This record gives sequence, structure tokens and C-alpha cells, in this order.
Amino acid sequence: MKTATRFENFAPYTPIEPYEVLVQRLGIPAEKIVKLDANENPYGPSPRARIALANLAYTNIYPDPESRALRVALSEFTGLPADMLMAGAGADELIDLVLRVMLEPGDCVLTCPPTFGMYAFDTCLNHGQVIEVPRRPDFSLDLPSILAAIQAERPKVVFITSPNNPDGSLADPEAIKALLNQPVLVVIDEAYVEFCDDSGQLGEKRTWMPAVLSNDNLVVLRTFSKWAGLAGLRVGYGAFPRELMPILWKAKQPYNVNVAASAAAIASLHDLDFLAGNVEKIRTERARLFDALQTVPFLQTFPSQSNFILCKVSGRSAPELKEDLARRGVLVRYYATPLLENTIRVSVGRPQDTDSLLLALAEISGDLQIRPAGQPTQTAGSGPAPRSSHVQRRTAETDVEVSLVLDGSGQRNISTGLPFLDHMLAQVAVHGLFDLDIQAHGDLEVDPHHTLEDVALCLGQAFAEALGNRAGIVRMASAEVPMDESLARVTLDFSGRPYSVIEAEWHGPTIGGIPASLFPHFLESFASQARCNLHAHVYYGRDDHHQAEAVFKALGRALDGATQLDPRRGEAVPSSKGRM
Ligand code: PMP
Repeated sequence: MKTATRFENFAPYTPIEPYEVLVQRLGIPAEKIVKLDANENPYGPSPRARIALANLAYTNIYPDPESRALRVALSEFTGLPADMLMAGAGADELIDLVLRVMLEPGDCVLTCPPTFGMYAFDTCLNHGQVIEVPRRPDFSLDLPSILAAIQAERPKVVFITSPNNPDGSLADPEAIKALLNQPVLVVIDEAYVEFCDDSGQLGEKRTWMPAVLSNDNLVVLRTFSKWAGLAGLRVGYGAFPRELMPILWKAKQPYNVNVAASAAAIASLHDLDFLAGNVEKIRTERARLFDALQTVPFLQTFPSQSNFILCKVSGRSAPELKEDLARRGVLVRYYATPLLENTIRVSVGRPQDTDSLLLALAEISGDLQIRPAGQPTQTAGSGPAPRSSHVQRRTAETDVEVSLVLDGSGQRNISTGLPFLDHMLAQVAVHGLFDLDIQAHGDLEVDPHHTLEDVALCLGQAFAEALGNRAGIVRMASAEVPMDESLARVTLDFSGRPYSVIEAEWHGPTIGGIPASLFPHFLESFASQARCNLHAHVYYGRDDHHQAEAVFKALGRALDGATQLDPRRGEAVPSSKGRM
């Protein structure tokens, strides 16, 4: 069988090693691995995206080939008309699609290495030829050489990555303006634009998308992989000149964006504050990681506007350093190309990921001066911080994850393995109008104790984290709730001092298959982590299920009341201490 000759000298794209394969190769449990090799978002999807994924309907039906609902949501997000937007299975698919519709065999595509490898890969796939105009040593674009190459080689397409992968530098806007005056299709790849400084919320002030309206040779690509934490679902999008749209629709695979990706992307666009909060955390950590890496004598760091930092390694081998780090469970990417000799790229993770990396670097080099610089500092955000949180707790007995949006609408996705507990927690979400995602796996083969306790602790911690410094909240609230013949009251004070008083008489040893004694324990555990004063009282009732349900409904209502922001209370943490 004779296959196409262009594949004979074709350099395949080198993807990162799959997680499961790595876990097996390194013999390190997945939860201990610090994955800083693929610029993924360590905080994962938003609570609303998690809920949308859990409640997916119609996975037996093919997706909308035109991704209409997603494009409408994207139109609102970008301010561009939906008929200039197209979604794809990651920005990757759209890079291929653009080249598919633009290239005749032998046509040229200009790239500026070192940069993202897919442009050259897809050019070869699509019978094209790559012209490379290397970046300068500081990774800025060499505009005069690019213009000369456009004159000489007449490329059909120029790819500009901004911020660029792997160094994180932004393209000079003047260079982009000059390119837009050339007879060439300019594709700006903004996979990381949401992480730029001074870019408003999620890159809004930096993105070139609005310029697509006035430039018929500009395409701008973006993705949900990085800022929205959806890399595994493969969803990206682009803004294209109107003239290109009909041919793009013709050439596209019909069902390219699957129903899960589409639902999660739409939900992410409805959870922008939460996701912007995660981006802010990553930006803050980028500054801390950068400072810390500068103290490592054998690394030279490059300033980055993205969610990774490039480091030149001196005096030792980058591949060996990568392997030494991997043996300690820390994964980074290394490069060994003529333009990127002996270099590693480190994705920005959570503060604890930076700490693990620094510890591993100190161990490898024996240099005990290497250590994380300071604790993460808060940078001024562009708007009010989203009142939401994501808490994870892994112990020998349980694995619990809780996502909470305080100012939600009562959406929930709760699975603890204890159906009655799920039913009670749903009352908290519904009556408190909180969006709540709780996933727990515990040693239920032993008994429900650990699972119930750890869910309570995580939920309490989720409230504490979402409330931040508690400034401006109502703080105290009480709710009395009937449930048929039962009546219960819960009174709360988010004072910062954990204390609980639970008064309830149960009629049987278990409620919904859970020992009755665990319900007061749930409330006490919750209060300890939420750092609140919690009084729960069942006045009367005949049915334990009703009594418990009245308590959890009252808990939801009281939580709603106490966690509300009251503009009259301003920025103060409400307290009469030290005042008249
Ligand atoms: N462009 C650049 C510059 C990237 O680094 C990446 C991801 N590595 C992509 C595009 C692809 O993004 P997606 O996951 O949406 O395919």
C-alpha cells in the first residue's frame, strides 16, 4: 500500500504523556502528581459547568452541527455577531480548518518560532510549506524579516500567537497592525489571552476579536481549555471574516463540538466571575512562582503574560532535570530545539504546586536556599471577587470535592453515596439558593460516619472560603421551618467563632439509613469549619425524616440570610467589639 509521500518526512506533534500512563510509569498516586507540563487549569471547571455536565440530557442525540446555543452565548461574551463565530473541538481543530480551506498544495504558511507546534504540523497535513521567521532573543516578533518574507514568499497565512507559547510574551500591537495591511490572512492565536495583565475581565481589553469586524484578513482563535478548565472536553472558538464563513461551514466536520463540551462551555460563560477568580489566582501565583524561580541559580526565567513560565537551564541538562523532577512527582515540559536549547516550561499551578516544585528543585540541586517566596498576595481584581469556592479533601477514608456559588440559583449536583444525605444537602442548596456541587466517595463499607463528617467539614470550609473576610455580610440570621407535623429552627452567626448547640430528639436509631446521632455531628462539623455559631432546635415532630428535613431547610434559609451582602454595612466586618 502506498501512502502519501508527504508523510515520509513528517515530524509528528509530540503530545504530553497521558496522565494514566505517567501514574503507572512513575509509580506515584495520581493525587500526588503535580502536573505543570501542559498549561492546564489546576482549578478545573466552574461549579456551573460541573452541574451542567452532571445533568447532561440527550447524549444519545447528535450535537447541533452549527453549535447555535454556544455561538449565541459566545456572541454575548465577545460582542461579535454569532454569524462570525465558529466553535471547534479545541482551537486545535480550528487551526487545521483554517489551513484546510486556505491552502492549495505547495502554498506557504509563515510561523514565528519558537511557537506552538500545531501550525507547522497542520500545514504539512494540509499539503502546505512552512516558512519560519524566528523571533528575536527576547521572543519579540522580527517584523522587518516577516514583512520581507511576505514579499518574497507570498504566504497565504501568518500565525501570530499572543501571548506566545512557550515564552508567554505578547505580540506588539503595532506589528499586528502592520501585518493586517499585508496581502495575507493573519491568524492570531489567543489561547492564553485571559491571563494577561491589565486586560480587564478575561482578556476583554487585550483580545483582537473586535478587530475582525473591520479587517477582512483577520482570524482570532480562543479556547475554553485554559481559563475555563475544559481542556479534556476539547472546545475552542474563533472569530472569522464573514467572507470565510461559508467555506468554513462547508469544510468542517459536522459534529465537531460534542454535547458535553458545548454544555460545559455555555455554563462556563454563565459563571464568568467564578472563572475570572481562578484566573486571578493563577496570575497571583505566576508572580510568586516567577520570584521563586529567580532564586534558582541554574534557571533563567522569562517574564510571562500567560499561565506558564519559560526557564533556560544552565550548567545541567534540561531533559535530566525534567526526569529528576518527574521522579519526585513534578511534571514540567522541556525543549531541545535550536531556538530553545536546554529549556523547561513550567505551568503555573496552585500555591502548593509551586511549593512542591521548589522543594523538588532544592532536593535535586542540594541548594537549600531555594524555597517559595512569601505567601500568595492578593492583587487588586477588576471587579468584586466572586463569592464562590472549591474545596477538596482527600483522606485515607474519603475523597470529597465541594464547589459552592453563594449567589447562585439553587442548582445542585450532589452525590455522596448516601441518598438521604444527598436529599438533605439538596434542601440547603434549594432553600439557600446556593449552587452546590458535592462529590464524595467514602468508606461506606465501614459505615457512613467518615463520609458524612468529611462532607460536613468540606461544606463548612466551602462557606468559609466563599465568604472571604466576611466584610459586609448580614452575619446573623434565623429561620423557622415547618415540615408537615415537624417544626425546626436554625440560628446562625458568622462570628468567626465555631460553636454549636443542637437540640433534637429522634424517634428511631436511624434516619434514611444513617444513624440519627450523625445528624447533630454533621451540624457540629459544619459549624467548626464554617467558623460560625450554629443553634439548631427541633421543637416537635413525629417523623424523623420530616424533622431532619425541616432542620436542613432551615439551615439553607438561615445560611441564605446570614451570608447576604447588605450594602448598608459597607466594607466593615460586622461586629460591635471595641465600639460603643
Ligand atoms: N494555541 C496555543 C498557543 C496553545 O498553546 C494551545 C494548547 N496547547 C492551543 C492553541 C490549543 O488549544 P485547544 O486545547 O483549544 O485545542
